[in-house]
Amino acid sequence: MAEACRRAGRGVGEVTLIGVTKYVGADVARILVECGCRELAESRPQQLWDRAAALADLAPHWHLVGHLQRNKVHRTVSVVSLMHTLDSLRLLTAIEAEAASAERSCDVLVEVNLTADPERSGCGEADVPALVAAAVAAPHVRLRGLMGMASHPDAAGADARRDFARLREIRDRLAREVPPEMLRELSMGMSGDFEEAILEGSTMVRIGSALFEGLR
Ligand SMILES: *Cc1c(COP(=O)(O)O)cnc(C)c1O
Repeated sequence: MAEACRRAGRGVGEVTLIGVTKYVGADVARILVECGCRELAESRPQQLWDRAAALADLAPHWHLVGHLQRNKVHRTVSVVSLMHTLDSLRLLTAIEAEAASAERSCDVLVEVNLTADPERSGCGEADVPALVAAAVAAPHVRLRGLMGMASHPDAAGADARRDFARLREIRDRLAREVPPEMLRELSMGMSGDFEEAILEGSTMVRIGSALFEGLR
């Protein structure tokens, strides 16, 4: 990450490492926090709740990076620091209602589907402006930016850097109409493509497997 920041002419403090712990046990996740990684992510809500309880004494910040169903909003809003996967107006409505009744606010990123791949989740590009506007207007939701995943590296014509550039361009275009602090974060880059993401302006990389190489 430091090397990619240097190549991009960016400071190392501009990119946050989020450790994705879905492949390892809570014991390894605990070691990661003790090593100084205070931002952790899970992709399944149930696992996130369980992990948050298991590591409560260390109080890391939890990120949800996988799809959230509306029936799991209630338990998730109370434990998550940042939800990376807001992808529909229906989900936004559920999060706003939950946060309002809990008298708290919920930080979110709008997940953009950057690919034609139906296996990938996220809001279609054409629907992003409306979802962003609705999130800005929701009083208990705090929009912080956008999240996206590059095309699968084996897909024909895959080019992670091009996909990340596109997410940044979508953000830059929206930022003319939305207060800039609401679109500051770009959650992009994983183990296989975080360098390209940092070169294109990522502020949060979500790294799983590369952190745990060599562990069984
Ligand atoms: C699993 C996962 C990651 C981490 O992937 P690695 O390639 O293991 O670094 C990042 N983002 C999301 C959304 C994931 O589901």
